[in-house]
Amino acid sequence: MKKDNQKRILIVNRGEIAIRVARAVRELGHLSVGLLTNYETNAAHLAFCDEWVELSGNNHSETYLNIKKIINIMSENNIDAVHPGYGFLAENSNFASEVEKIGKIFIGPSAEVIRVMGDKAISKNCAAEAGIPIIPGSKSEVKDLEEAKKYAQEIGYPVLLKAVAGGGGRGLRACISEEELLKNYEVVKRESKSSFGHDGLLVEKLIENPHHIEVQVFGLNNGEVLHFFERECSVQRRNQKIIEEAPSPFIGEDENVRNKICNDAVKLAKHVGYKSAGTVEFVMDSKKNYYFLEMNTRIQVEHPITEEITNSDLISMMIQNAFNEKLDFEQQSEIKMNGHAIECRICAEDPITMMPSPGKVHKISFEIGNGQRFDHCLYNGCKISSSFDPMVGKLVSKGHNRSIALRKMNYALNGLNLTGMKTNRHLHLKILNNDTFQKGNYTTKFLENLKPQDELKSDLNERFEKAKDVNYVVDEMVLSAAIKEIENSF
Ligand code: ADP
Ligand code: ADP
Ligand code: MG
Repeated sequence: MKKDNQKRILIVNRGEIAIRVARAVRELGHLSVGLLTNYETNAAHLAFCDEWVELSGNNHSETYLNIKKIINIMSENNIDAVHPGYGFLAENSNFASEVEKIGKIFIGPSAEVIRVMGDKAISKNCAAEAGIPIIPGSKSEVKDLEEAKKYAQEIGYPVLLKAVAGGGGRGLRACISEEELLKNYEVVKRESKSSFGHDGLLVEKLIENPHHIEVQVFGLNNGEVLHFFERECSVQRRNQKIIEEAPSPFIGEDENVRNKICNDAVKLAKHVGYKSAGTVEFVMDSKKNYYFLEMNTRIQVEHPITEEITNSDLISMMIQNAFNEKLDFEQQSEIKMNGHAIECRICAEDPITMMPSPGKVHKISFEIGNGQRFDHCLYNGCKISSSFDPMVGKLVSKGHNRSIALRKMNYALNGLNLTGMKTNRHLHLKILNNDTFQKGNYTTKFLENLKPQDELKSDLNERFEKAKDVNYVVDEMVLSAAIKEIENSF
């Protein structure tokens, strides 16, 4: 449906999120322009874009992270606005500011808000100013090891060393004693400098066995901020989420806590003049005390579960908001929570070690039916390269209540057949069928403590044994090929 004031929107991303954005752009009657690098191994997103432009270069700093090149592409291709997706330049305030400077639209919050909230120390101060509970510890970068030690003694061990510029679960290290603090201080600083270009660190109290609870907010151009309720993302490995659900099973029916945390998120977003979609993240302890963690000034990986329980389209709203058009939702009272949704991140990784395991998809098939959704970028023969994020899809289920959503997710995971490379599909099935997970009272330590991944080892061995039985007459080479096939389809 072409509209009169049709805009040209550049999508500075790839994979499933580029597809998600391209679909919203088309649905709203605009035109999408995709990017193709010469080291791309899976350009599924281009099939959903109206046009594409070559992004020359051999690595991310020459391509997706190269602000100058992208700004040139915008000027040369008559682009009106840019959507950054998540990752890459999504939380880069310099990029947003360069886009603003050439008079084009960055689909997201202002460059200034990205700058302020992108720094974990500055955003912590903003949260404190807005009257939101923050994690005890330093409120600004520590000057040196002595100051780090002083804070740690004050708040007591265990503490967490945290890169102010960190993201994606990196730049965090827990220290249970002063000895560990001494050992880790320089390590985290170095890692932070090389990953994020800045080595500032915070020293924070480590909240033990917390829940990760976050609130989806949306800032309107009139200064109002809406919330779309919370998500719980406590199933994590290496401080990064793999399963998310909405609403939080830990908050459950406790409407007081739900209202309080959602209103606090709105308060913070209002305080900083937030526009567009954003997420305020918290950790919550066993007594339901919660503390501000960080704000992600972008669309989040797990946004689909919020869309499913609120009947919303957050990407479309980001685009409407950027062009000052009427939004699908403009009042808090219009946003109602209905049912329960779960997301499993499908990653090209070994389900037991949970380390990336790139490869080639031999064959993919899936069954998506009632209450299921699959946001992905997979096709037969596509290659998942180690140059890109191992997350290749997001399986989402929705039901009238949590147990129905779980049932539907079980069905969808069983119906997802992907051969040729390893994925974490079987790990998801183990988690879903774990008692603690089913009861809904699991913390961020769930995988570390209960190790559902260990059960996979014996399952895998059992299948190897079966393969040996079947293949007893054939030679070693056929047997090892069969074993590899089992491993890869696992
Ligand atoms: P979410 O908070 O949306 O769940 P994740 O932490 O899983 O996001 O990160 C989403 C994507 O963005 C991942 O591809 C991750 O690697 C990337 N990412 C997030 N923050 C950063 C950062 N500061 N630097 C580099 N990549 C990042
Ligand atoms: P990132 O930018 O990498 O997403 P976050 O600050 O959001 O960094 O932290 C990532 C994860 O690390 C959280 O979801 C939580 O599991 C854990 N975490 C961070 N800070 C703390 C803390 N002070 N205590 C306990 N866990 C924490
Ligand atoms: Mg985070």
